[in-house]
Amino acid sequence: MKRTGYWMAAAAGLTLGLVGAPGTAVADTQFVTIGTGGVTGVYYPTGGAICRLVNQGRDEHGIRCSAESTGGSVFNLNTIRDGELDMGVVQSDWQYHAYHGSDQFEDAGPNEELRALFSLHPEPLTLVVRPDSGIESLEDVLGKRVNIGNPGSGQRATTDLMLDRLGWDYDDFGLISEVPSREQAQVLCDDRIDAFFFTVGHPSGSIQEPIATCDARIVSIEHDEIDALVEDFPYYFHATIPGGMYPGHDEDIHTWGVGATFVSSTATSDDVIYEVVKAVFENFDTFKGLHPAFAPLEKETMVTDGLSAPLHEGARRYYEEAGLH
Ligand code: GLU
Repeated sequence: MKRTGYWMAAAAGLTLGLVGAPGTAVADTQFVTIGTGGVTGVYYPTGGAICRLVNQGRDEHGIRCSAESTGGSVFNLNTIRDGELDMGVVQSDWQYHAYHGSDQFEDAGPNEELRALFSLHPEPLTLVVRPDSGIESLEDVLGKRVNIGNPGSGQRATTDLMLDRLGWDYDDFGLISEVPSREQAQVLCDDRIDAFFFTVGHPSGSIQEPIATCDARIVSIEHDEIDALVEDFPYYFHATIPGGMYPGHDEDIHTWGVGATFVSSTATSDDVIYEVVKAVFENFDTFKGLHPAFAPLEKETMVTDGLSAPLHEGARRYYEEAGLH
């Protein structure tokens, strides 16, 4: 969604005392939008953090960035493809499939214009249960009421993929709920579901909330089929939510997960992407301070790991300049 800010450019021209003939370029403002996820997750504050750093340099580069709450990874990838979002935070597995036209993206076909910018925080698949649910292990979810997220979320797509791999159908559950991530804590605490699966960075408000409100617990996800899944695909890995991260959870929680990544497309100019990437990497300590889930981030791995689409030329230009590539 690129709009030239004629009014703002005109206003800037007036302030500077520049009088141009109609059509004279003064200082075009470019509006760019980042697609994120539900407001209680980590994607939404991530988009906000990136935009905040970009907008700090607005006077120099003329880019005005805003973050939008969306349905999640698959939605963001489809919407970037349609040209209605400029950038998006998406799971590494769905970045891979969108570029290659596989799995969820088989009908749409490969999106050869998709471009990777950098990778972000890990997102362990997190199983959160009610304390009275009797769920102690992955198998215990069978027969229970479980939220798997709205269609379009990475949460939903990855949970579906896991259920498929385990050979479990929706019929094997008491109820399959598809509420978006921002509502699932409330639905859990209202006793309308027993559990939810969420691919999310940690710590996250979306997990803190049900623990604080109704003593929800996080349960490890371990299974031979999960080991095989992690073995089969480069974008999946075993993951640990360290003990002590959430109240009442002193032991490590073992699960598996994906990485959050930041993507765009060739439709967004090299100059815009160069400035966006530069804003994050030149203010890296500030960026890391903007969310606790960013604690493990390192520049070197961010520019290499989990990127299945080609690097955007604007990002490459900055990484080469900064000696990161
Ligand atoms: N990984 C989730 C998804 O793609 C979103 C997580 C978040 O909002 O932080 O649906």
